[in-house]
Amino acid sequence: MAHSKMKIPKICEYCGKTFEAKTVITRYCSLACITKVNNDKKKGNIEKARQQRIIDNLPPDRTHITIPEAVQQFGISKDTIYRLVRKGKIPAINLGERLIRISREDMEERFTPIANRPTAVATPAPIALEDQPIKMYYSQNECYTLNEVTEKYDITRHTLRATISRNSIPQRQIGNFVYIPKEEIDRIFCK
Ligand SMILES: [Zn+2]
Repeated sequence: MAHSKMKIPKICEYCGKTFEAKTVITRYCSLACITKVNNDKKKGNIEKARQQRIIDNLPPDRTHITIPEAVQQFGISKDTIYRLVRKGKIPAINLGERLIRISREDMEERFTPIANRPTAVATPAPIALEDQPIKMYYSQNECYTLNEVTEKYDITRHTLRATISRNSIPQRQIGNFVYIPKEEIDRIFCK
């Protein structure tokens, strides 16, 4: 067959413009659009890998998780999580901008982690929200200083630091002292 002069009107699947395709299987209007599609695919893979890393790196014994971790683990949007935190539906500790830690246990009560779902589809589990008063901030007398913890539980400062880090226990420095929530510490060491 001679060189086809056929022109098939099509809509570019990337930019949505109409164009004249030379073959029936052409899907995009231009090399520029093909390049963009390929870049998006690559980015998608990178993004997926990044999300998987967040989940993989989450130690199973951590009591509090960050908002990005919650987004990945439960497949719900950041906005939804912030809304629940603002309404006091999900216990959270706010140590300042970008330092919100939310209770993993409470999240797991309300949402099914993506990994535990029968299918890998990121549909949120139905939201069951009980109205309960939720503490968002710890006052100073609800916190230990580092010295109080090392004395009470007879552990080294090094062990304490490692435990705080491993469990993402929120901490706040006020003056010369670092404060950490008693209930978090007691839960870990009162075993
Ligand atoms: Zn196009």
